[in-house]
Amino acid sequence: MVRKDHDSVLQEEVSAANFAARLSEIEALMATQGRPYQHALVLAMIRRDRPIVRFLKERAGYACQFEGCTASIPTRGGTTYVEVAHLDPVSKGGGAVALNLVVLCPNHHKMVDLGTLQIDVSDGSKVEGTLNEQPFRIFR
Ligand SMILES: [Zn+2]
Repeated sequence: MVRKDHDSVLQEEVSAANFAARLSEIEALMATQGRPYQHALVLAMIRRDRPIVRFLKERAGYACQFEGCTASIPTRGGTTYVEVAHLDPVSKGGGAVALNLVVLCPNHHKMVDLGTLQIDVSDGSKVEGTLNEQPFRIFR
């Protein structure tokens, strides 16, 4: 593998197709160079995901999609604060594709990120499985 200089690594376009390779390049730089590269990685991920994140939040009506959730955090902008979670974590190769993303309140987002998640069904209308050994359903 040809070693790229730091600036060219940071300026390269990040796309779904090259994200895994870009991630490992930036992670290699982080290991030797530290936090500036971690910051660059986060910025690259946010830029890449922004259009689909906005689309999914709008489609969900800015409401948590976890079945039975009534969380509501009003914002000054007139919407409700929600987050978009990756079911398959970015750190394990999960992409910013619609079927890997769900709109959740902060509590459910953390439960999904930190808990024991098993997905049995994931399609265009719902995600079903168990979260911390309790059945759950997320409607898309
Ligand atoms: Zn929720």
